[in-house]
Formats: sequence, structure tokens, C-alpha cells
Amino acid sequence: MDANFSLRDIPSIDQLLKASVMVEAVDRFGRPTVTNALRATLARIRDEVRRGGRIPSSETIVTAALARLNADARSTLRPLFNLTGTVLHTNLGRALLADAAIEAATDAMREAVALEFNLESGRRGERDDHLRELVCELTGAEDATIVNNNAAAVLLVLNSVAVGKEAIVSRGELIEIGGAFRMPDIMARSGVRLVEVGTTNRTHPKDYINAIGPDTGLILKVHTSNYRIEGFTSEVGARELAGIARDKDVPLINDLGSGTLTDLVRFGLAHEPTVREAIDEGADIVTFSGDKLLGGPQAGFIVGRRVLIEKINKNPMKRALRVDKIRVAALEATLKLYRDPDRLGERLPTMRLLARPQAEIEAQAQKLAPLVARALNGSFSVSVIACESQIGSGALPLATIPSSGLALTPVDGSGSAPELLAASLRQLDRPVIGRIERGSLVLDLRCLEDEAGFAANFTPVYPPAEEVERP
Ligand SMILES: *Cc1c(COP(=O)(O)O)cnc(C)c1O
Repeated sequence: MDANFSLRDIPSIDQLLKASVMVEAVDRFGRPTVTNALRATLARIRDEVRRGGRIPSSETIVTAALARLNADARSTLRPLFNLTGTVLHTNLGRALLADAAIEAATDAMREAVALEFNLESGRRGERDDHLRELVCELTGAEDATIVNNNAAAVLLVLNSVAVGKEAIVSRGELIEIGGAFRMPDIMARSGVRLVEVGTTNRTHPKDYINAIGPDTGLILKVHTSNYRIEGFTSEVGARELAGIARDKDVPLINDLGSGTLTDLVRFGLAHEPTVREAIDEGADIVTFSGDKLLGGPQAGFIVGRRVLIEKINKNPMKRALRVDKIRVAALEATLKLYRDPDRLGERLPTMRLLARPQAEIEAQAQKLAPLVARALNGSFSVSVIACESQIGSGALPLATIPSSGLALTPVDGSGSAPELLAASLRQLDRPVIGRIERGSLVLDLRCLEDEAGFAANFTPVYPPAEEVERP
């Protein structure tokens, strides 16, 4: 067969654009996008024809182009079901916002707001004005400021308070958090000189006292948020350390990481240090995240003594690290929920999910098991199991919360099957993300609130279809 003759028989883009499906597609996606999709589809077909394949019908070509257009139109940031069992999953976007926060953020996106404008005086205001009083009320701090995230908060505090000076940290607290946040690197970039004291497992008051000298700019205490040192250990508690810092007239900074504004014990969880406790213990500055246990949008809170906060606000880096109006609005609405602690468990998704009782989750698992089994068509056994959820984002790293879920186990014992199933669940309209554990794909249902949405969406193709070839 003459290959050139065959290639010439492939319909042209102009011809294909006349098909009614493509006319509709132009309406939806715009002409250049549809033309590009057809061009990419035709390039693939030309390759196939050169390799001896046949020319597909115009309908087939148009259908393939439309599939490509639909796949491209789907957001890579579309909602998914987080069934990993980690409630505050950094890779899955951490806290889900409360309705009140979503409404406030939406209003701020649509309309002009008095972000840096004082409505009473008609003069320029500060964006921190919307949050300062609330944050101080909830934490007992004298003053507060808010930046992009807690990593930024730590960077800004170190640079504002101790640039060119020494910062003393216990060797047991030189943490690395995922995503290249390493305390020693952050300290170097912020222009302070790290002075390590103590050993990995034990640091004593005299270690700090001996290290303090004329060049000391601050003492930093870091909440060891993603690990615990156990066994023969000792650390200097925040209150005692505050005493040492005060005696030597050196500021004490306490990076709480997650921090929480309310005692988690009231939600049946273990105790995580609250920001108010850290302030009460005498820290001059406390830093914590907005999207960890607090349950709001990404943000970094800096709270503490007014003289230091004023210094921080004068640092030009503050301008580079500030938050936008959308997040200020969402933060304000989230913080206001803390004024009614009795209803926090209903209104704040983070608390609601963390507090869900195992029995309720198990009942949900029992209910969904037959549906999931049916969708998997006998290739997997589906059993209701007890499992352990985690808070995530470094809060209470060793404390797990009893939960329940579904274990999907390949019936033929094929080792790679759970990975293949996980891949196929990631391709769903609304991807379902579980975790692989001992040869099964486990779906921890703690974070499943939209049961009907899950049921309607759970139609995996197994084994998964090959991925659509990309241009
Ligand atoms: C999470 C964490 C940070 C970083 O906070 P982000 O909000 O993720 O920037 C810093 N310090 C500690 C101790 C943390 O746990």
C-alpha cells in the first residue's frame, strides 16, 4: 500500500470542524483549543497510519478529539475524596473551611472590601486590624500579625528580632518538616546564626544559660511536631525556658507549628498545646499555622508582645509575606466560630471530622460495602475494618484516632492489584484517594461526609484503561 496516498486520505481539520460535535465543542472551548485538539489527534493518527494502521472514520477522530478536550478541561485541582485517614493532609490541601469562612471569602472575592481602609475615620487602615483583636481575645496575647504561612512567620520573626545575632535552639528541636522546611536552613536564610545546645535526646537549663552571651538575639523553642523523642530524654519546658530568657533579657520565641485555639480534649482527642497556654507560659512570641488544627485557610500567625510585633511590622519582608483579602475574610469568619466553643464541633469541618465517633464511621462502612463490592465486580473482596486515622500536619504525631473503613483486597492475591486499583480510583470524575496497607487498598471513611456523592461517583474501571495518549 502507498503510505503517502493513505496519509492524504486523512480528513482535514477544516472538514472535521464542520461535524456537529465539533461545532458544539467550538462553542464550549473556543476555536483555537478545538483546532489544537484535532491537530494533536490527527498527528497521532498519522503516526499510526505510517506504522501500517488504518484511517479511522471521521466520527472516531472527532470522538477522540472530544475526549481529549474534556480531559483537558477538567481541573487538576478538582475536588477529591480524601479517604487516606489523615484529616489534615498537606498534599491534599489541609483544612476544609467552614461554611461561614467560604461565604466570607466569596464575598471578598466578588466585591470591594475595606481591607486597608477605616470605615469610621475614612482614613487608611491596616489589614491586620480585621484580625488583631479577635486573635488577642482568643489567645490572650497582647498583639498579633498575620502572614502567608507559618514558615513565613518563623522566617519573619527570626529576621526581625535577631538578624545578625545568634539564635539558640535545642539539638532535639532542629526539625525538618516536609516540603524542605528545615529549621537550620530557615535560620540561615533569615540572617541569624544558629547556636545548637544540648544533645538530640537531652537538653538542660544550664545548656541554654551557658550559651547566652552578648551576641544572643533570641531563644527559639520548636514544637517537635512530626516526631517524638522517647526513652532517656529531657527537655526544658516552655515555662522554665521563659524564666531563663527573662533573666537574661532575651526574647523567647515558641514555634507551635499546628497549635490549637481550643483544648482538643473536649473533642475526645489527646491534649495538644494551645496558643493561650504557650502565651501563659511566658513566650514573647508564638507562631502557628492557619490551616492546621485551627481549621482555616493557609496563614501564619505571629502573636505576643507588642514591642516585638511592632518591630516585625516594620520589617520590609512583612510586605512580601502578607495575606490577601480573601484569606483575611476567611480567617476572620473562622476565628469568630471559636467564640462559641460548644458549636465548634458542628461548624468547623476539621473538628467535626476529627471528632466523628468510630461507631458512626463503621455504620457508614457497612452501608457502603455492598455498593463498593458491586462496582469492583468480584475482582476484590470488600471488608469493613477497624483502622486508625491521624490528625496530620504534625499535630500529635503519635496519637491516632480509632476509625473504620473498607479494605479492598485482590481475590487472586496479585501483588500489584491494589496499586492498579488505586490508579483507577484516581481517574474517577472525583478521584478517591486511599492508602495501601498490607496488600489491600484501605479507604478510611472518617472524612467521607458526602455519601451520596461518593456512591454516584464510585464507578472504577478495573483493570484501569490505558491513559489517553497526550500530545
Ligand atoms: C507545620 C509547621 C511549620 C510550617 O507551617 P506552614 O503553615 O506549613 O508553613 C513550622 N513549624 C512547625 C513546628 C510546624 O509544625
